[in-house]
Amino acid sequence: MRLGVLTSGGDAPGMNAAIRAVVRQADALGLETFGIRHGFRGLIQGDWSPLKSRDCANILQRGGTILHTARAPEFADPSVRAQAAEGLRAAGLSALVVIGGDGSFRGAEALAREQGIRCAGIPGTIDNDLPGTDRTLGFDTALNTAVEAVDRIRDTASSHERVFLVEVMGRSSGMLAVHTALACGAEFVLYPEAEDDTFEELVHQLKLSAERGKGSSIVIVAEGDQLGSAVAIGDRLQKDFGLDLRVAVLGHIQRGGSPTALDRIWGSRWGSEAVKRLAAGEASFYLGLQEGALVALPLARIQSPAAPPPRELAALLRILAR
Ligand code: ADP
Repeated sequence: MRLGVLTSGGDAPGMNAAIRAVVRQADALGLETFGIRHGFRGLIQGDWSPLKSRDCANILQRGGTILHTARAPEFADPSVRAQAAEGLRAAGLSALVVIGGDGSFRGAEALAREQGIRCAGIPGTIDNDLPGTDRTLGFDTALNTAVEAVDRIRDTASSHERVFLVEVMGRSSGMLAVHTALACGAEFVLYPEAEDDTFEELVHQLKLSAERGKGSSIVIVAEGDQLGSAVAIGDRLQKDFGLDLRVAVLGHIQRGGSPTALDRIWGSRWGSEAVKRLAAGEASFYLGLQEGALVALPLARIQSPAAPPPRELAALLRILAR
């Protein structure tokens, strides 16, 4: 059996750990692996070559993805997927490991269902926004990067006794924002799933903080928050509420960097498990983590919504911000 591996969507630390594990687990089972470059675009164009155990030396600790990634909107077209599957069959590739987020899993699910290419998904996104798994590759690393950055901002915020709005990534998910806020002792967090947040409530909390004798306050803003971006929220707070504040947008520094031990360990475990299950004949699944245990879920499950950040975390933040 020959299998292909690709990374797709946004890059995430830990993807290389997963690639390495796929290649070496396959090697251990006597299977050949082909590395497909640039995600589904490379799949469509036949941009692949054999990937061997030695090709994966020294990548475990590297951020990004050695296979590169790309967006390929044309993969949403069934005829393009049929053409890609033909290319795979011609090269003797009967199974595929797709490392990516929900968009990538939708592509893999369609390819498996329509074309009979056996597909395994490994969750790779810093947003931690996939259904059925407590964790995705890159989330732990991005969280630690964001926490370190906010700690630095806190130093200057307390020296100048200022309010800071700090925007973190996460697309439409507040996972990264809520966890960063809790780990940094932020005074408030704005995230998309908390639909009842208002400017008035935020201003009220900031005033309470000041009354309690706090010199500085940090508000973590998820990039997808319904009140707007951190810059837009900051403008409004200055104009309509007369608050003096600063805004910092963490941006792409959250994506890169050497993966944490957890991201390396789960990249390794999921990479190995994906190959073992494909070798055993499984056809359309993705891997995840539930309450500490490795689980496999049907790829069709990707249609269901991801769990929001636990509400008790945001509630705990309020209590601890006293
Ligand atoms: P992520 O995998 O991180 O969610 P995207 O949403 O950009 O990132 O998806 C990555 C790629 O997956 C897209 O560029 C496209 O090739 C493919 N894809 C996304 N959504 C679909 C879909 N509904 N059907 C088929 N392929 C899809």
